[in-house]
Amino acid sequence: MPKKTSPASLSAEERRIRSRLHQVLSQTVGFLRGSLIEMARRCGNPRCRCASDDANKHRSLYLGYSHEGKTTMQYIPKDLEQTVRRWAGDFQIAATLLEELSQQGRRRLNEAKANARAGKDAAKKKAAKKKAAKKKAAKKKAAKKKAAKKKKKPPHDDPNTTSQIR
Ligand SMILES: [Zn+2]
Repeated sequence: MPKKTSPASLSAEERRIRSRLHQVLSQTVGFLRGSLIEMARRCGNPRCRCASDDANKHRSLYLGYSHEGKTTMQYIPKDLEQTVRRWAGDFQIAATLLEELSQQGRRRLNEAKANARAGKDAAKKKAAKKKAAKKKAAKKKAAKKKAAKKKKKPPHDDPNTTSQIR
């Protein structure tokens, strides 16, 4: 089935993406842009398990994000890890959907431009045809006028002339 779209109508694909975005917006409570980075470190206590075993290093979560060209690493406390993971994941989903919508928008823009070009060409052709028809009609009218002049009504039909006769 050929897909037909214009700036005024949404394609099935775009409707599908929009409805998914609606769903994301209605189901999530927060968004966080950034990448989650888990870091392992030693706490410094020589008697801690982390001191001798790499596998027992303390793990902590950071949210790395860039803003105005600056990258920041934000520490995420343990009790907020789940929330932050969810919000960051939801941001990714929403951002992907928005990017897909943007691609749809670009496609529609290109189609509108192509249609406008095609319409202009058609209008040009139509205008040329109309001009030719007008010229023909004018010629016909002129011929008719000439013919009418030839069989002009006699002077006594004119009311002024008639009164003079009387
Ligand atoms: Zn430790």
